[in-house]
Amino acid sequence: MAATLLARGGSAAARALTFGCLRQLHTVYQTVELPETHQMLCRTCRDFAEKELVPVAAQLDKEHRFPDEQVKKMGALGLLAMDVPEEYKGAGLDYLAYSIAVEEISRGCASTGVIMSVNNSLYLGPILKFGSEEQKHQWIAPFTSGDKIGCFALSEPGNGSDAGAASTVARLDGNEWVLNGTKAWITNAWDASAVVVFATTDKSQKHKGISAFLVPMPTAGLSLGKKEDKLGIRASSTANLIFEDCRIPKANLLGQQGMGFKIAMQTLDSGRIGIASQALGIAQGALDCAVDYAEKRLAFGSPISKLQAIQFKLADMALALESARLLTWRAAMLKDNGKPYTKEAAMAKLAASEAATAISHQGVLDA
Ligand SMILES: Cc1cc2nc3c(=O)[nH]c(=O)nc-3n(C[C@H](O)[C@H](O)[C@H](O)COP(=O)(O)OP(=O)(O)OC[C@H]3O[C@@H](n4cnc5c(N)ncnc54)[C@H](O)[C@@H]3O)c2cc1C
Repeated sequence: MAATLLARGGSAAARALTFGCLRQLHTVYQTVELPETHQMLCRTCRDFAEKELVPVAAQLDKEHRFPDEQVKKMGALGLLAMDVPEEYKGAGLDYLAYSIAVEEISRGCASTGVIMSVNNSLYLGPILKFGSEEQKHQWIAPFTSGDKIGCFALSEPGNGSDAGAASTVARLDGNEWVLNGTKAWITNAWDASAVVVFATTDKSQKHKGISAFLVPMPTAGLSLGKKEDKLGIRASSTANLIFEDCRIPKANLLGQQGMGFKIAMQTLDSGRIGIASQALGIAQGALDCAVDYAEKRLAFGSPISKLQAIQFKLADMALALESARLLTWRAAMLKDNGKPYTKEAAMAKLAASEAATAISHQGVLDA
């Protein structure tokens, strides 16, 4: 009862105030006091997205076309290897910066956002954390400029959430690993020049028998499935990777044998921050469109943005978005400070993807 009274007492004024502030770019920045570098990065990425992505995003999506030219320009801006140290040709920034950049790029084009996110978090991330010095130079540096991008192959047609049940196998034959099996739903598959792939090296050990490998693309014994005809983010390719007696050097094992599940799980923690940030960008783009429309659309002689029902709807959308953004930045900051962030990254991904879905739907239905 007390909670109901509290909510009743102040919610109309709170919504009205929220609506009044909708036009300020990321009002949440004032609360969190982001460093100047991060604010500058935000503006650079927003300008880039407005100029280079917004004009082509719908067409790229329609045609299933990889944004080759734009990805190269993003490489030049340092956006494809954001937390990679400069010695491996990365931008040497932190995960908060990465989150902000993925959001702004995704606001312009969600496909480009996921291409960027997979290269940063899912491909470069595990190599940076678990690779040998030699592997870092070989498999990271060429993937920072946008000339080459990478992908991450864990899921299989028969198992997604249950990643420990991987049926792809790797067997050692002299100085080579021989891979057999099929990986499913692999983002960047058609456009990638390398993949971090997970395969069972000892089935009796279950998830502790999974290992991670670095495979160049194209390579003999590795073929691509058809591009999935997705509902959205279609400029980013998603396809099966089929391994049939695919031979790679023994030295392409990433980390220790049997460490693959740990590598995958830790990588997915970071990956969730990237996907949460992508969802924030989608949500912000949808909210901006809804506000624009509400200000231009006239009904009964005035813009519908003057109607309290519309104002409150937009305020609720902004509330969901900024709550999810704070959760996402919290997860990124915990990672930057070397603290555990598994739960926080999962909450951020959940909140941001739910917010993106709800805001997009509300934008179509009510504004
Ligand atoms: C666009 C896109 C891009 C992707 N990119 C990649 C990629 O680059 N690399 C990669 O490896 N994979 C990728 N995936 C695969 C993705 O990670 C899997 O879809 C995900 O792991 C879920 O697996 P699944 O689809 O097989 O669902 P399942 O695991 O079959 O789950 C089916 C349903 O059961 C629920 N469920 C499963 N287990 C539990 C549980 N323990 N408790 C409660 N509910 C449960 C799930 O929530 C879901 O609703 C991508 C998927 C998509 C759609």
